[in-house]
Amino acid sequence: MPAETVSSMPSLRDVYRARARISSHVRRTPLVRSAPLSLLSGSEVHLKLETLQDIGAFKLRGAVNRIMTLDDEERRRGVVTMSTGNHGRAVAYAAGRLGVPAIVCLSELVAGNKVEAIRELGAEARIIGRSQDEAGEEALRLVREEGMVLIPPFDDPAVIAGQGTIGLELLEDLPDVDEVLVPLSGGGLIAGIALALKSADRAIRVVGVSMTRGAAMAASLAAGHPVAVKEEPTLADSLGGGIGLDNRYTFELVRRHVDDVLLLDEEEIADGMRHLYRKEGLVAEGAAAVGVAALIAGRAGGAGRRIATVISGRNVDMASFGAIVAAEST
Ligand SMILES: *Cc1c(COP(=O)(O)O)cnc(C)c1O
Repeated sequence: MPAETVSSMPSLRDVYRARARISSHVRRTPLVRSAPLSLLSGSEVHLKLETLQDIGAFKLRGAVNRIMTLDDEERRRGVVTMSTGNHGRAVAYAAGRLGVPAIVCLSELVAGNKVEAIRELGAEARIIGRSQDEAGEEALRLVREEGMVLIPPFDDPAVIAGQGTIGLELLEDLPDVDEVLVPLSGGGLIAGIALALKSADRAIRVVGVSMTRGAAMAASLAAGHPVAVKEEPTLADSLGGGIGLDNRYTFELVRRHVDDVLLLDEEEIADGMRHLYRKEGLVAEGAAAVGVAALIAGRAGGAGRRIATVISGRNVDMASFGAIVAAEST
């Protein structure tokens, strides 16, 4: 068996190991009760503020955990990744902090502010192709020809375990949680969180939320195997991209542990962003607002239920953000 197929599914123990490893580099974020959302939905709603991480998104957790498991030779050759932005930013930040060289391969669809942020963190940003998959091919070339180590955005046991540390914090801060709404793209975030929550209690509902425009995990679950979907522009740009046709971990973990997946249209996502800004004073990107959007749309929640949702990031282009929050809701 080739060495790369030996690594196995991450477990709860890996999530605890990740927490021990990353705790001095990653913020333990607050979980705050939202009075306006609780009133509006009839549920008891809590927001997990991953917007407060140094790079403005949760992805630091997985990236730091993965880079901290490199050996000396791998650290010397450096790390490479493809990303819709936040993962690239996380790898750039983590690598810089841990003293490891980094190259981030991005597609032309990635917003300019995200590219700039990666360069500011000291990593090389390489712009290739019209999709995340094309950017990925360049990353694979660097691995093949220059021996760099690929840090995948979601389909990696150490990345999943790192994101899972959010689940441990949720359990500590809200042990009676009934349901967690998690923004869903490649599934590293929800797979890690579900691993932690479902190990504690199978009855905790874990629900993924994606946009209707190009939801690769939802399409793959429906098909029973990983499938590709057309990439389309969406307010939830951090949820774009495929899950990989050779997906090894997140598809299986999502299938096993995730109770439901909700899909939201662009207007619903915009409503979520407007609510977070106007009523909670939070700048959140579209991807981060989908749990709130599902509650506002009446697609999740229920009387008296204790709900938490992950506000996963705040890296939004400020010009378009201003236009969205200034617009009347329809
Ligand atoms: C990456 C990302 C997600 C989705 O995470 P996956 O592990 O790919 O499912 C959600 N929100 C933000 C802000 C992200 O950057």
